[in-house]
Amino acid sequence: AKAGIGLIGLGTMGSNLALNIAENSVPVAIFNRTTETTHEFARAAGPLAKRIVACETLEQLVAAIEPPRAIILMVPAGPVVDEQVAALRPLIEDGDMIIDAGNANFHDTNRRAVEAATNGELFLGIGVSGGAEGARHGPSIMAGGPREAWDRVAPIFEAIAARYEGTPCATWMGEGGAGHFVKTVHNGIEYADMQMIAEVYGVMRDGMGMSAPQCGQVFARWNEGLLKSYLVEISARIGEASDPETGNPVLDIIADRAGQKGTGRWTAIEAQHLAAPVTAIEAAVAARNMSAASEVRAEGERIFGAAPRVLENGALSIDDLEAALIAGKIVCYAQGFTMIARASAEFGWALPLPDIARVWRAGCIIRSSMLNDMATALEANPDRNLMFADFFSYLLKAKHPALRTTVAAAAQNGLPMPALTAGLAYFDIMRTERSTANLIQAQRDFFGAHGFERIDRPGQYHGPWGASG
Ligand code: NDP
Repeated sequence: AKAGIGLIGLGTMGSNLALNIAENSVPVAIFNRTTETTHEFARAAGPLAKRIVACETLEQLVAAIEPPRAIILMVPAGPVVDEQVAALRPLIEDGDMIIDAGNANFHDTNRRAVEAATNGELFLGIGVSGGAEGARHGPSIMAGGPREAWDRVAPIFEAIAARYEGTPCATWMGEGGAGHFVKTVHNGIEYADMQMIAEVYGVMRDGMGMSAPQCGQVFARWNEGLLKSYLVEISARIGEASDPETGNPVLDIIADRAGQKGTGRWTAIEAQHLAAPVTAIEAAVAARNMSAASEVRAEGERIFGAAPRVLENGALSIDDLEAALIAGKIVCYAQGFTMIARASAEFGWALPLPDIARVWRAGCIIRSSMLNDMATALEANPDRNLMFADFFSYLLKAKHPALRTTVAAAAQNGLPMPALTAGLAYFDIMRTERSTANLIQAQRDFFGAHGFERIDRPGQYHGPWGASG
C-alpha cells in the first residue's frame, strides 16, 4: 500500500511530526536533503518503521504517495520553501497538494498561494506550535489555504493534533496566509508571555534575593492557579533543575542573551502596519534585542553603576507578582486578539476568534487555563476588547492594582519591566476617556495645519496660532 502523506525535512519538527503521523496509523513517505538522516530516522523508528517509507529522491517520494498526494514541507522558512516547491512542481500531478508547515511569513504564504493557484496546485500554509514535544505527541495546528484542500487532509491533522477535552486543536483559519498569520500572532503572544514571566523572575532574583529553585517553587505554586500554563510550568521545572556537572542551578549558568527567529518581530511589524497596538509584544521583542547587547549593558553598568535592584522588605509580595502577571497576561492576550480582529477586517479574512482561542488551549506554547474563558468571551463578542469581557474585567479590577504596585516598585529600584510596564500603560490608556491627544492634535495643526475636531461642535478647525503657526 502507498503512503497516505509525504514529508520533506527530518529536522527537529519534521522527524517528530513523521513519527506522530505514523503512530496515528497513516503510512508516511519521508525525504530529507541529507540522505543519511533519512535512513537513520527510519532505523530509529522502532515499531513505527513499518509505516515509514524512506525515500532517497523526490521522485521516489512522489511515487510512494497515494494520489491525490499531500506533501508536508518541514524546512526552514524562507527561500528553502520556494526551492522545495519548485523542485516538486514538475513531479506532482493535478490535485496534489503541498503543505508548508514551517513558520513562514504569512505574506510569503499569500504569495505562494497565488502562485500555486495559478499553477493549478493546492497549497496549504499551516502553523504548527508545540515544539518538538508537541510535534511528536500533539501540536496545535493553524491552517490556511483553500477550504476544500484543508478538508481533504484535516482527518490526518486532527488525528495528530493535541486534544482539549477530546476536541482536536487543529482549525482552518481562512484562505492564503491566514494560518501562518495566526501562528505568527501566537508567537508574538509567546514572546510577551515569556518576557513578563522573566520580568517577575527578575524581581524575585534581584529584588528579593531568591534562588533559582525558590523561584521555581513559586512558579510551581502559580501553576496551580489562574496562571496555570505551559510556560509557567516549564519555568518551574527550569528553576528547579541543577547542572549535572557543577550541581549549581542551571538557570544561573545560562548566558543572558535571548535568541529569536523573527516571528515576534513579524508580529510587531505587522501590528504597526495594521495600527493595532500590541505594546507588550513590541516591548518583548525589543527586550530580546537589548538582552543580546550584553557588552553595551556591561558598559552601562560601569558608567551608571548598578541600579539598587534590592527591594525593601515587604515592598512587594509574591502574591503581588502573581496578580501582576495575571493582569499583564490578560492585557497581552487582549492586544493579540485585537490585532487578529484588525487583520481579519484588513485582509478580508473571517478569522474565527473564539476558535483561535480554542485551538490554543492545548498543544501550543501559549496554552493556558485562561484560554477557555477567552474563547467563551470571544464567542459572546469577538469585536470587543477582551479586557472588557465580564470575566476578564472582573479579574483586571481585582489584579491591576498589584500590577501598578509591582511596576512602580520595580521602576523605583531599577528593575526593568518593559512588557509589564507597556501592558499597564495600555490598560490605563484604554480606561481613560479623555486622553492627552488633544495636545498632539494642536501641535499637528500648529506646525502642519492638519486641523482638528472640537468637542463642542462638529467640523474641522484650525487654532489661533497666529503667524508662527
Ligand atoms: P531543523 O533545523 O531542525 O531542520 C531543518 C530541516 O530542513 C532539516 O531536515 C534540513 O535537512 C532541512 N533543510 C535545511 N535547509 C535545507 C535546504 N536548503 N534544502 C532542503 N532541506 C533543507 O528545523 P526545525 O525542525 O526546528 O524547523 C522547521 C520549521 O518548523 C521551521 O520553519 C521552523 O521555524 C518551524 N518550527 C520550529 C519549531 C521548533 O520548536 N523547532 C516550532 C514550530 C515551528 P538536513 O538534514 O539536510 O540539514
